[in-house]
Amino acid sequence: MIAENLLNIKSKLPSGTRLVAVSKFHPVEKLQEAYDAGQRLFAESRPQEMAAKVPQMPADVQWHFIGHLQTNKLKLVLPYATLVESVDTLRLLVSIERWGAENERTVSVLLEQHISQDATKQGFTEAEILMVLTQAVRGAFPHIRFCGLMGMATLTDDSGVIHGDFSRLAETFAKAHSMLPELTEFKELSMGMSDDWPLALEHGSTLVRIGTAIFGPREY
Ligand SMILES: *Cc1c(COP(=O)(O)O)cnc(C)c1O
Repeated sequence: MIAENLLNIKSKLPSGTRLVAVSKFHPVEKLQEAYDAGQRLFAESRPQEMAAKVPQMPADVQWHFIGHLQTNKLKLVLPYATLVESVDTLRLLVSIERWGAENERTVSVLLEQHISQDATKQGFTEAEILMVLTQAVRGAFPHIRFCGLMGMATLTDDSGVIHGDFSRLAETFAKAHSMLPELTEFKELSMGMSDDWPLALEHGSTLVRIGTAIFGPREY
């Protein structure tokens, strides 16, 4: 079933879009099943859960972190994550920069933009993102690689609302490129989940983060 789901989704992705298998709340047996079907890119949203799963999976797995990251949990995540997709505050960015300096590492991140109409306040505004990136270009974060943007659309059946959310994220992405051509590694536009990824593709998504449609309902 997992292999079939992966194949089915992948067959619909354009060549520039990668599938991120969101494995949070699923046991490693299921991750292994996806791995055996060829999946190498996984994402987790809780630091402890990710740190526990990493040693149980083959070494060539790439891990993205997509959840809320508290500054006191960096050491559970940053040694393993090839990309932190959910950087949502300046405070977190400053902590990641400090961790990178102390550990002589460059950390790859996406900035999360608040695009949904839901009550959640998670994420930067467009203006904040452009400000952070301007500072980055001026050298404010030498241990952070800014790789793009992430966003979550409104939880709704109204596809017009979802299209609006994704188009705002794509617009910020385009603005960042035209304002700051120095950002040569700013290439990822992470948007689209189980229920809305086909819509996200229409707005240029390069990373779709899909959990339920691969693994079924979350188990814990
Ligand atoms: C859980 C989660 C997903 C995957 O959600 P599904 O609806 O199960 O596909 C994607 N992105 C983020 C940030 C998540 O927390």
